[in-house]
Amino acid sequence: MVFSTGTERMAKDMTTKAAQKTDLKKVRNIGFIAHIDAGKTTVTERVLFFTGETYKIGNIDDGTTVMDFMSLERERGITIGSAATNAQWAGHQVNIIDTPGHVDFTAEVERSLRVLDGGVVVLESVSGVQPQSETVWRQADTYKVPRLIFVNKMDRLGADFDYAVSTVHDRLGANAVPIQMPMGAESDFHGLIDLVDQKAYVYETPEAVEHSLVDIPHEYADSAEAARQHLIEKVAETDETLMEKFFEEEEITKEEIKLALRKAVINLDIFPVCVGSALRHRGVHPLLDAVIDYLPSPMDVEDISGVDPADEDKKLIRKPSADEPLSALAFKVVTDPHVGRLVYLRVYSGTLEAGTNIYNSAARSRERVGRLMVMHADSREEKQSAGPGEIVAAIGLKDTVTGQTLCPQDNQISLEQISFPEPVLSVAVEPKTRTDQEKMSTALVRLADEDPTLTVSSDEESGQVILAGMGELHLDVIVERMRREFNVDATVGAPRVAYRETVTQPATAQGKLVRQTGGHGQYGDCTLRLEPAGPGEGLLFESEITGSTLPREYFRPIEQGFREAAQSGVIAGYPVVDMKAVLVDGSHHDVDSSEMAFKVAASMAFKSAMQKGKPALLEPIMKIEVVTPSEFLGDVLGDLNSRRAQVQNMEARGEAQVINAFIPLAETFQYATHVRSITTGRASFAMELDHYSAVPKNVAEKVTGN
Ligand code: GDP
Repeated sequence: MVFSTGTERMAKDMTTKAAQKTDLKKVRNIGFIAHIDAGKTTVTERVLFFTGETYKIGNIDDGTTVMDFMSLERERGITIGSAATNAQWAGHQVNIIDTPGHVDFTAEVERSLRVLDGGVVVLESVSGVQPQSETVWRQADTYKVPRLIFVNKMDRLGADFDYAVSTVHDRLGANAVPIQMPMGAESDFHGLIDLVDQKAYVYETPEAVEHSLVDIPHEYADSAEAARQHLIEKVAETDETLMEKFFEEEEITKEEIKLALRKAVINLDIFPVCVGSALRHRGVHPLLDAVIDYLPSPMDVEDISGVDPADEDKKLIRKPSADEPLSALAFKVVTDPHVGRLVYLRVYSGTLEAGTNIYNSAARSRERVGRLMVMHADSREEKQSAGPGEIVAAIGLKDTVTGQTLCPQDNQISLEQISFPEPVLSVAVEPKTRTDQEKMSTALVRLADEDPTLTVSSDEESGQVILAGMGELHLDVIVERMRREFNVDATVGAPRVAYRETVTQPATAQGKLVRQTGGHGQYGDCTLRLEPAGPGEGLLFESEITGSTLPREYFRPIEQGFREAAQSGVIAGYPVVDMKAVLVDGSHHDVDSSEMAFKVAASMAFKSAMQKGKPALLEPIMKIEVVTPSEFLGDVLGDLNSRRAQVQNMEARGEAQVINAFIPLAETFQYATHVRSITTGRASFAMELDHYSAVPKNVAEKVTGN
């Protein structure tokens, strides 16, 4: 939008004023979080529909949804990108940050969680909590994100609200408390009861999209009262005054419940449960009301903390106030076909103005914010400024990538970095022609810019380009996007597992560099003990040196030398993980010692100690859940066994059988296609990285070629 006429300029001024006045208490930054297929996209669609942001009802099945704007996503029905969309409800501004459901995109989930204040976890009423919901739930715990739960698909055959709620208790150990109660289930699902307001939302005909708000129907009076008592008891457990009233059997008003419940939700003590059927537009109004009533505003969450980029030990705090210095976190980069590079930012403090210069504290560069946009599902709105708690997309930033902080140059801060998992799988891609080669470099620069979990490198021996990512689907999507968006024709090699190496027993070795080549020599000497560390611990380093054996200034170069050398293990050059290096001894020379010499010595010590420490090759092990009709159970199990899977347990879920197992990533290639063919398309599965474990000898021999 170009502001040219007088009226438009006035509109612009008004926008600015409006932005300054944004009442933070009336902002909700939320995300819908879910296992794939739970209905997150449909729920988001319905929310946009009812909040008036979109007038046609998008339906995921016919590929017309508004949020999934990438054509590829439409075809696959998976939400990959995470767009931020602004909606209005009951005088509040609700910013919806789209989070992907597929676990191959967990980094996308992580970065969305980083900037959310609250989440709505969408579960299916038939199956409740599934393995991937568990993963996302734990991620949300890490980021201390208060959550509501929406039990979706109440219209489906086998819908069971109580069962779904029980899975939250059993599988997540979370204090889930229904604040609503469904009326009917499956094809008879015709409404719900709000246990706080004691009203019923009734959908009068099977097709009804709008509800009537009525008194609780007589036949539900007893069950609703019991559920309400349960709710009050649970809320009272978190609030002393209410607890006293509860025991004295005094009347507790709905305002008191709301207030105490809001506090309990924000403290992560209670996760309220709502119910509905997104597909049939049911339960969306009361869900939105619950978002406003119980999820935090940017004022309710802890002040954001960061460090001084000049001194990382110095902690800095920014309050959500326009009077504080600017701090904004880049959480997503997208290249938009119309406006170019868009950097999604969450402003935590201060005011970000369009057309001004700011500073990127990580890249240590000055950046210019050209324009600022707020994205609605199907339109954009230009803004002059954005204040604390707001989410905007900036145009014009050149160097800023995901995870970096923007701030004033004279008042710098680095907000906590977003952590991304290491890639587990790689493929070699080879452009078909010379033109493809050029286009491919452009494509990969851009795709890697948008996606911090994609790494692009080249194989020194073969000269091939190697893409590494989070799984088969992730890499498929990247290759598809190269084809469609950038017209690159490329041959893709077989996927290769990103193995790791480690030591299985402690071993000590000395590394000594002594070089006397006339003049200034080189002298570095250190002894390292390598020990196995626990799964997921990565690389640890510590020193046992006491006294004046070795000046402290050489500890850091030794650690650096060790970490660099550990990028490439002694078995087959894979990165080393789950190992601790202990610096036990060393010596130096007054003239000849340098940081460089100690780095080299550490690398030498590492290599020989690792040789002695019975090194082992590790492979990524996935946790998999397969749901299959009972008649195919034998085939599915037989197939899993042939893939070195270890079945942990099996249970019946309705008519289906659920198998939980661990399976090496290397054995999962093409599993989607295969399981479909042996079950005539009736089984489904979900998997995620669980841990690394030692590769059996015969497989290791194949991998290393020995
Ligand atoms: P996402 O993967 O979590 O984004 O899930 P989608 O929104 O794409 O939904 C997955 C499938 O479930 C689609 O086929 C939807 O039409 C269907 N679905 C979503 N909500 C409901 C619901 O309330 N009832 C029923 N029966 N199906 C639903």
